[in-house]
Amino acid sequence: MTADERREELKVLLHEARACTRCSQLASTRTTVVFGSGNADADLMFVGEAPGANEDRQGLPFVGQAGRLLDQLLCEIGLSRADVFIQNTLMCRPPGNRDPQPGEIQNCSGYLLRKIELVQPRVICTLGNFATKLLRDDPTGITRLHGRPEERRIGNLDVVLYPLFHPAAALYTPAMLETLRADFAGIPPLLAPPEPEPEPELEPADLVQLGLF
Ligand code: URA
Repeated sequence: MTADERREELKVLLHEARACTRCSQLASTRTTVVFGSGNADADLMFVGEAPGANEDRQGLPFVGQAGRLLDQLLCEIGLSRADVFIQNTLMCRPPGNRDPQPGEIQNCSGYLLRKIELVQPRVICTLGNFATKLLRDDPTGITRLHGRPEERRIGNLDVVLYPLFHPAAALYTPAMLETLRADFAGIPPLLAPPEPEPEPELEPADLVQLGLF
């Protein structure tokens, strides 16, 4: 699929998501479905937890305080929102900002995986425990995993998965913020283009064949 075709498919998925009622409680309490936003062909994707009150109102991910911190951390590594795609484990706000429930995560996971397949990022940063556990399919917590890139196959895509603390956790804890900042500094090397394979040495016979001898 070309990038244009993937973008069109993403729009179809957006229309489907806006009408989703798989989680009856969330569908009846949400103001908007927060599908995700940013560059539909991004190399770098962030997956957070779930929309909060601001996100629910505006229909965009990470537009509150945690979002401002995310913007700042992106800026510090020379990136902006326009360079990345940001989405959440859940597209609807859990009432009162309660934790996402396992059934809700399951209901939304098909959308999440489809968005990953359509954007085709090379690096996925999971923000916090919910996204990390879901995309690693493992209960190991973020405290043990943050800042360690792993090669993973997600859906039909080979990606580097890079777990990070959730920015909301760093808002009021300076030590956590410094850890998050240090982990963010590890993102640009993950995005660097892969080293080209070394050219095989040409044998004299090859040079003759190529007319170089
Ligand atoms: N926290 C999240 O995980 N996602 C948002 O969109 C906002 C806050």
